[in-house]
Amino acid sequence: EPMLEITGVERRFSATHAVQGVSLTVWPGEVTCLLGPSGCGKSTTLRMIAGIEQLDAGEIRIDGRPVADARRNVPPEMRPVGMVFQDLALFPHMTVAANVGFGLSRARQGSGEVRHLLERVGLAHHADKYPHQLSGGEQQRIALVRALATQPRVMLLDEPFSSLDQRLRVEMRELALDLLREAGTAVVLVTHDSDEAMMMADRIAIMHGGRIRQEGTPLELYQQP
Ligand code: ADP
Ligand code: ADP
Repeated sequence: EPMLEITGVERRFSATHAVQGVSLTVWPGEVTCLLGPSGCGKSTTLRMIAGIEQLDAGEIRIDGRPVADARRNVPPEMRPVGMVFQDLALFPHMTVAANVGFGLSRARQGSGEVRHLLERVGLAHHADKYPHQLSGGEQQRIALVRALATQPRVMLLDEPFSSLDQRLRVEMRELALDLLREAGTAVVLVTHDSDEAMMMADRIAIMHGGRIRQEGTPLELYQQP
């Protein structure tokens, strides 16, 4: 069964038809990359999956259940979706441990799970620090495990590593792929970086002007003449 099914979604802003009939199917454990230039509709598509942008037409289903269409919008916190956005910061007044435990029940907060997650990304020794005391790369690792802590069915990543330097970015891509594969979640990754798409994606959807113009595996897309 597909984990995420997007069928003919549309989104207009006054003068702009930002997303025009986008359809996409993502299976559990699969990384699908939306690739394309700035302004082509990638973030708007991702925000509709997250529930923070209304649909004008089409439908989104997660794990077989309809979560959004033109009339209905299940609120973001009611969707089994995790997000790591470039501009979705950690909570500045909470410790690292509190950030990671934020979406968890009290029982799960007390279960050592937060510590385990922090150990998994090598940051257990920073548990009691505050976000501003960590480097950019460390903050991104925390954002990733915070999103994974709630065991989402779908993970949304919007240019998550673009602010990091080249070496750290490559490292983070590998770590993120390991964590996401372990979790078995369906992933939608937004990027304008074709190297990132090639490295991380099982399938790539190339967007332009609000539409998907081509779709396939990295091999299929890049072997074309
Ligand atoms: P990115 O290309 O990095 O995804 P954004 O999605 O933040 O950037 O913005 C893309 C374009 O959409 C920008 O040109 C911005 O001016 C425009 N935009 C984003 N949000 C709004 C808004 N609330 N009102 C008007 N324009 C917006
Ligand atoms: P991308 O993520 O590919 O850079 P976006 O989805 O952010 O593209 O934007 C697609 C188009 O929709 C752009 O033309 C952008 O200016 C416009 N747009 C996005 N958000 C808004 C908004 N809130 N209000 C008005 N225009 C917007």
